[in-house]
Amino acid sequence: MEQINFNDTKIAFDWKTDKELNKAVFLFKMIGKNSMVKVGNALINTAIAIHFPIGWAVRPTIYQHFVGGETLESCNPLVEKLAKFNVKTILDYSVEGGDTEAKIDAALKETLRTIDNAATNSNIPYAVFKPTAFCYPDVLRKAGRKEHLTEEEILETEKFRTRVKTLCQKAYDLDMPIMIDAEDVAYQNFIDIVVYEMMQEFNKEKAIVYNTLQMYRKDRLDFLKDLYQKAISDNIFIGVKFVRGAYMEKERELAQKLGYPDPIHNTKLDTDDAFNAALKFSVEHIDRISIFNATHNEKSSRFLTELMSQNGLAKDDSRCFFSQLYGMSDNITFNLAKAGYNVAKYTPYGPIKHVLPYLLRRTEENTSVAGQTSRELQLFTSEKQRRKTENK
Ligand SMILES: Cc1cc2nc3c(=O)[nH]c(=O)nc-3n(C[C@H](O)[C@H](O)[C@H](O)COP(=O)(O)OP(=O)(O)OC[C@H]3O[C@@H](n4cnc5c(N)ncnc54)[C@H](O)[C@@H]3O)c2cc1C
Repeated sequence: MEQINFNDTKIAFDWKTDKELNKAVFLFKMIGKNSMVKVGNALINTAIAIHFPIGWAVRPTIYQHFVGGETLESCNPLVEKLAKFNVKTILDYSVEGGDTEAKIDAALKETLRTIDNAATNSNIPYAVFKPTAFCYPDVLRKAGRKEHLTEEEILETEKFRTRVKTLCQKAYDLDMPIMIDAEDVAYQNFIDIVVYEMMQEFNKEKAIVYNTLQMYRKDRLDFLKDLYQKAISDNIFIGVKFVRGAYMEKERELAQKLGYPDPIHNTKLDTDDAFNAALKFSVEHIDRISIFNATHNEKSSRFLTELMSQNGLAKDDSRCFFSQLYGMSDNITFNLAKAGYNVAKYTPYGPIKHVLPYLLRRTEENTSVAGQTSRELQLFTSEKQRRKTENK
């Protein structure tokens, strides 16, 4: 089996002009400076708090690099551009926390629009949503921790169920797979229950509804195996988006503060092992499990290609997808796509003020995740160098 070369920057950045490449180098140099990010993020947080307009500074820089556009329609040129390189797009309406009824209704309306939009565009293979956009976070947390709920709160959990069902029903009717993101562990117990109900209802013929498993959690590999057993007895299919998990520091702090055992693996290696074991288990049970391998980790991306080959799966088997966030790890995305695998860029969109928390997370992640920024920067600069020496 041929090995994918994730260092091929010609393929990785073929879709970027010299000017775009220079901009990316500048941006990642800034993000790489821990102190710059701290100051920048503090300024952004203050600007959000006092409603100070900062769009002029954010739009041409981090926003443009990590976000598809302000509206669903404005992302169309990007979707078409990526498709020319065999890369699909997943458009994620990036709103955080549904803390008022009006916000929840607006998010529901917009997410339904994204499902319609995806169903009419073959370059958009999945719809997606964040469950916390559809319930008051406190209620989700209490329900997740099995705390006593008031009658009003029980009503809110029912409304959440109905909203999730509305989305999944629409996805099912349009034959459009739909993924449900994972966030804090505290919310997840209840979300898992609701998502499984959706799988029971809509995954009878194939995986339409996908849950997200954060493999940095100690309990998730067993959860996957249980899910598989339940799927067999209920005779349904399951879809799983595998991620390592984005909220490690927050989870550890909370566990310590509230005095319960840390739910996150003790070491990065344990998380990596769990992630790869989950991929292996899923490929070995591909007759029932559809896989969405959401990672910027080159080893885990390559590992899935090897597993697919060992298990006789075609590179473009519809049950296996790879995905990276828009603005990150183009070397993985475009090299996998060129080799014929199913790959999608997970692309948030939305007005600047709604997307700011997402952007703050991206800059922080790129400063705190060991090596990520320097890896991106190294790839951008070596492509610049290559273009210079090879005259393109
Ligand atoms: C397409 C896509 C969709 C995503 N959707 C979600 C989502 O719905 N929910 C969500 O939570 N995240 C999501 N993420 C983010 C993801 O969870 C990771 O934070 C991010 O991708 C970095 O992990 P990695 O696998 O790419 O690579 P790596 O850089 O190899 O791994 C970094 C990750 O390893 C884990 N880790 C690091 N240090 C330690 C340690 N000391 N002990 C234990 N574990 C450690 C952490 O999870 C950390 O984020 C998504 C990512 C992608 C690409």
